[in-house]
Amino acid sequence: MSSVSYFMTEELDMFRTSVDDFVKANILPYFNQWEKDGRVNKDLYIKAAELGLLGINIAPEYGGMGLNDMFSMVWLEQGGRHNIAGAMLSLCTHSYLPMQYLHKFASEEIKQKYLVPSVDGKIIGCLGMTEPFAGSDLAALRTTAIREGDHYIVNGSKTFITNGVYADYMVTAVKTDPNNARGGISLLVIDTKSEGYTASKLDKLGVRSSDTAEIAMLNVKVPVANLIGEEGKGFLYMMKSLEIERFSIAWACLGGCLGVMDVTLKYINEREAFGKPISKLQTIRHKIVDLETEIETTRAFMYLTTQRFANGENTVKEATMLKYKTAELLNRASNECLQFFGGYGFMEEFPIARVYRDQRVNPIYGGTSEIMKEILSKIIVDGVKY
Ligand SMILES: Cc1cc2nc3c(=O)[nH]c(=O)nc-3n(C[C@H](O)[C@H](O)[C@H](O)COP(=O)(O)OP(=O)(O)OC[C@H]3O[C@@H](n4cnc5c(N)ncnc54)[C@H](O)[C@@H]3O)c2cc1C
Repeated sequence: MSSVSYFMTEELDMFRTSVDDFVKANILPYFNQWEKDGRVNKDLYIKAAELGLLGINIAPEYGGMGLNDMFSMVWLEQGGRHNIAGAMLSLCTHSYLPMQYLHKFASEEIKQKYLVPSVDGKIIGCLGMTEPFAGSDLAALRTTAIREGDHYIVNGSKTFITNGVYADYMVTAVKTDPNNARGGISLLVIDTKSEGYTASKLDKLGVRSSDTAEIAMLNVKVPVANLIGEEGKGFLYMMKSLEIERFSIAWACLGGCLGVMDVTLKYINEREAFGKPISKLQTIRHKIVDLETEIETTRAFMYLTTQRFANGENTVKEATMLKYKTAELLNRASNECLQFFGGYGFMEEFPIARVYRDQRVNPIYGGTSEIMKEILSKIIVDGVKY
């Protein structure tokens, strides 16, 4: 019995099996083509919605399953294990970023118009925070939303936005008071078909089947009714959403680590050199032991912490540790294990090559590893409470 089975219930086990079935039926047969196309088929959202995967933690009155975050963890971890990072990023950005803001902070009118069809997979959302001159330092964002009667007039740009080209709406961080840094930030839902809104696709190193866009907004008219929560509270809402964002990346990264070990253990037992499987070479065996020890201990901490998060406890510190640790661990695991594949590890037809490319974004997005360490320094060294 492993430590994580301590946290598993019959329902969670069954759910893990249905995640596997879903991935095998609806993603794996098409995935290579989507990687070439630079996007997943829109139909994937509908299929994921049929199984409830887009609304796992959304309240049933909005069409969601209303389940606790252990189910979200199992979805992202098990999906992550299949080496389909681009597709998982497309689906999970939609359901764990913009939809969470709509669910937690938006008006009933916005929820009915955007959240309910999002849970059904009929419309797709993206989250627009990063700008060309504001990434780690989000308070420096320059996009303005100036009120004129019943509308805001939005001007500015966003970059690196996942789902940006094909999304129907963007939950967008704007400055409603340009003279105020954090206190001037508000969140708007912007319809991507609005006049003056344009999205251009970006070409990137990995997670190629997730679309990533640069967005330009020129005098875009947004109804005041599309304001999420209260004006000037955007930065606060972003801070309150950081736990789920960091957890979601950590869950996927840990799944990625399990996937790396799956393919590597199989390969080193099959591949022979000097008359015996390379799994008999001590240099390889010891590296496998080091990695597996770190993966298993990190996984146990992740399960414990996710359970605490699901119970409503404050886990900002642990979520930040996990985002940092799992991203770096997957980075190391994919790099070290690729070496065991020799030349084959460099070939596209071997899954480890794609993991190596795809995982590189994890220590960058959702807050870089350096920023995670800055936040943790404040918590651990300075005693700051979040
Ligand atoms: C594939 C992909 C998808 C993304 N999806 C989205 C999305 O859907 N929505 C969205 O809003 N954004 C998204 N992002 C943006 C991502 O969150 C940012 O790239 C990230 O926050 C870093 O910001 P930056 O790129 O501006 O880097 P910068 O902030 O310019 O940082 C550059 C370097 O300086 C370091 N640095 C900066 N400040 C400090 C500091 N105080 N201390 C120590 N080091 C520091 C950083 O760690 C980094 O190494 C995505 C990015 C990628 C690559």
